[in-house]
Amino acid sequence: MTAIPGLHHVTAISGPPHANIAFYTRSLGQRLVKQTVNFDSPDTWHLYYGDRTGSPGSIMTFFPVPGAPPGRIGTGMASAHAYAVAAGRFDALADRLRAEGHATTLTERFGARVLALADPDGAPVELVETGRPAAGETEGLHSVTLLLADPGPTARILTDIFGWAEAGHETGAQGERLRLTAPGDAPGASVDLLRRDGAPRGRSGAGTIHHVAFRARTDAEQRHWIDRLAAAGHRTTPPIDRQYFTAIYFREPGGVLFEIATDPPGFAVDEPVEALGAALKLPPQHEPYRDRIAAALPSLSAAV
Ligand code: ZN
Repeated sequence: MTAIPGLHHVTAISGPPHANIAFYTRSLGQRLVKQTVNFDSPDTWHLYYGDRTGSPGSIMTFFPVPGAPPGRIGTGMASAHAYAVAAGRFDALADRLRAEGHATTLTERFGARVLALADPDGAPVELVETGRPAAGETEGLHSVTLLLADPGPTARILTDIFGWAEAGHETGAQGERLRLTAPGDAPGASVDLLRRDGAPRGRSGAGTIHHVAFRARTDAEQRHWIDRLAAAGHRTTPPIDRQYFTAIYFREPGGVLFEIATDPPGFAVDEPVEALGAALKLPPQHEPYRDRIAAALPSLSAAV
């Protein structure tokens, strides 16, 4: 049976773009691999960070909205995203983040060290030490945590439809955590379902995750997931061209917006790998309005 191999990307809402860029590139060592706009609202940036080529499973994206009211992390949303960090790099990265003045907390989860910190908008970011060989500053996404009032129906989507398996259960300071993992060892192959008594309902805003995207390796795989989800009573959007991938969306029963995004064509479709993220790129439907769009976008630098 086909299974979803892992996460494709995670998308969040941030405040001013310059602080977001500084944190994800300089502090966390990610590459800004695409400067584009929210295709549904082109007066808003859409910034993509990832590894050198922007490979699926390494991507974190933001809609930066200066002055956006802060959201509230709560049930029905993804509450944190985690990067994998090779064992040999973990301590050095933790030391550097502390030296930069970030407040960090070191904990252990399912037997691995986890360093938790917050990005400039207060969004929780976790670094999970793994046995993977070092590739860059991080080895792509490790996992995402979903805070849910009732994890059961969400777990069943991951196991019965996506082909994932329960990998462990532990109770800690944050609540009861159930880990599900994809078969194979692709990046982002874990999703943690967290339940905590008294957790408030989440409210979207700066510092919160907007949606979680899983991978389809091909268009045919994506069609397969549309059919599988429909057969289980979950209606998805039709495939939507997002220039760098094709996306379908559906609201899972726990309230989190899920996306399934194709690997092709990838981020090098409109600029060479060496130049990824260097200039504003627009999809064909917005290109005729480039001057107007560029003039309306907030500055990416702190100076203005
Ligand atoms: Zn997305």
